[in-house]
Amino acid sequence: MTEFDVIVVGAGLVGAAVAYDLRRAGYDVLVLEREQELGAGVSRSNSGVLHTGFDSPPGTFETQMIRDQAGRWPHIFDELKIPYRVPGALLLAHTDDEAAQLADLAQKAALNGVQTKILDERATRAAEPHSHARASLHIPSEAITDPYEVVTRLLHGIEVRLGWKVESTETAEDGVRVWGPQGSLTARFVVNCAGLFADELGEEGFSITPRRGEFVVFGEGTARLIQHILLPVPNAFTKGVLVFPTLYGYLCAGPTAVDQHDKSDWTPHLSALPALHQKASEVLPILEGERVEDAWAGLRPVGQPHNYICEFSSRVPRLLHLAGIRSTGLSSCLGLSAWALTQLIEHGLPVKAPGNAPEPPPSRSGTPWWQRLNRFREVPALVSRP
Ligand SMILES: Cc1cc2nc3c(=O)[nH]c(=O)nc-3n(C[C@H](O)[C@H](O)[C@H](O)COP(=O)(O)OP(=O)(O)OC[C@H]3O[C@@H](n4cnc5c(N)ncnc54)[C@H](O)[C@@H]3O)c2cc1C
Repeated sequence: MTEFDVIVVGAGLVGAAVAYDLRRAGYDVLVLEREQELGAGVSRSNSGVLHTGFDSPPGTFETQMIRDQAGRWPHIFDELKIPYRVPGALLLAHTDDEAAQLADLAQKAALNGVQTKILDERATRAAEPHSHARASLHIPSEAITDPYEVVTRLLHGIEVRLGWKVESTETAEDGVRVWGPQGSLTARFVVNCAGLFADELGEEGFSITPRRGEFVVFGEGTARLIQHILLPVPNAFTKGVLVFPTLYGYLCAGPTAVDQHDKSDWTPHLSALPALHQKASEVLPILEGERVEDAWAGLRPVGQPHNYICEFSSRVPRLLHLAGIRSTGLSSCLGLSAWALTQLIEHGLPVKAPGNAPEPPPSRSGTPWWQRLNRFREVPALVSRP
């Protein structure tokens, strides 16, 4: 007899969403988190943008997960009082070459079921007066939120053991046993949502490496300078540098994309910041005169041999990996959690009577997520002009 129906390893966005859906479906779920706080990993270091998947490759699992979440998140966010706003995004084309790509991007968006509209220079200027783009693609349903609020509210009322690092997993009678410095625990199933460390729960044939992304933060009130999330025309490696408003009145720009080895180095590199300021000013010239007042860095969990390693372990059959959720986990976690629940039931988790709706969480704190992150990390003295 196991102690829990399901143990979720990791209290980031993916683990929180999985635990939320399991609890709603009536399961006895426990979340184990190695740090002393919720969402202390990748999930607290992102842009806070809920992407629609308009530019994702059609037909892929990742795109499907983002689209599945798109059909769920507004209802769940309203229910849990997770703060968000839907300013929409403008993908800005500054050259003829970039303008020529907008029709393809609109077509890709349509294949993914995302509504978009191409705007000419005049309509772009009307939509975003400080921009100087030749044309743009308007994606009305792109949204912003606070990822820390998403994690903590999804987990509200769920048992989480902080400071509990899972070091290994093995098959046990009726399920899986996890081991850590505190001893061992058993569950019918274990879901590995350990982000950057998802490759360290046992030999599994995949690895996770960190890709750093720095952001700069302009002064309070600067979010008023833009009406939309401003996106560059993407390339194969990255979505590029976004200029985006936040729920807290600050305007931010980022991220960079630099592969590194150290999974624990979250320090924004001072040398990257002027170039970010420069790129943001190219998108929005008025930013040239604005002060950069803060910065943070995130680490994307890059999966090898591929991202979105969502499969049962070949070593421990009731261990489900949700690993390598590199760049879109805020936009896909509730798609992944619904998928994971179906998988667990298909693999033998007995169906239960749905659980009660969660109690409304207490009111939120009003501290931007990157400021929580920076409490633990060294931030270089800043920094002003490009
Ligand atoms: C720079 C940057 C920008 C991004 N921008 C966006 C964006 O705009 N929109 C979007 O949708 N996505 C974005 N993302 C991606 C998104 O943040 C990630 O996909 C998501 O946070 C991954 O969540 P996770 O739960 O898999 O990992 P994590 O948040 O890292 O969660 C894993 C948790 O597991 C814990 N853990 C690890 N090992 C163990 C263990 N052995 N035992 C117990 N606990 C353990 C960790 O401490 C951590 O809390 C961005 C990411 C970065 C870095």
